[in-house]
Amino acid sequence: MQRICVYPGSFDPVTNGHVDIISRAAMIFPEVVVAILINPAKAGKFTVEKRMELIRRACAHLPNVRVEHFDGLLVDYMHKTGASVVVRGLRAVSDFENEFQMAQVNHQMAPDVETLFMMTSPECAYLSSSVVREIARFGGDISAFVPACILEDVQAALKEKQD
Ligand code: ADP
Repeated sequence: MQRICVYPGSFDPVTNGHVDIISRAAMIFPEVVVAILINPAKAGKFTVEKRMELIRRACAHLPNVRVEHFDGLLVDYMHKTGASVVVRGLRAVSDFENEFQMAQVNHQMAPDVETLFMMTSPECAYLSSSVVREIARFGGDISAFVPACILEDVQAALKEKQD
């Protein structure tokens, strides 16, 4: 029985689509680690500390979820954490190719690490962090896309000064 699963990603920022996957993983696994990948080539709009804080707030109702960050290879992080299941979300067919490649490469490097895919819930199928960033940038309403408890923070951080 696997106890810990890791849900890796950028979470820049966390959306209702991510929270949906996290909540469902938290019903299956005793422990879920949401792990933010620090990518030196992709700074991101939010600092890693801010992303962690937003995820913690959005998942405050889920006691078996914790938030961490890592750099380097996911498989090394998995071994260090003592976790052997990676959870990833799938939206459209367009996600598949990249996810398939990553899962294969990770399996090649670490056959003891299993990647588990969860289908998006239909209401989140079109949702991504970049959609949220783009709409909020121009002052659009993102209340249907991110949890209410982080809405103001996300909106304020993303809105571009118009004057
Ligand atoms: P990455 O940069 O690694 O793709 P993201 O933060 O964009 O990181 O996504 C992390 C994971 O969550 C990925 O597996 C992605 O497919 C999944 N995901 C993102 N948005 C959704 C959504 N709306 N529904 C289901 N899964 C999602």
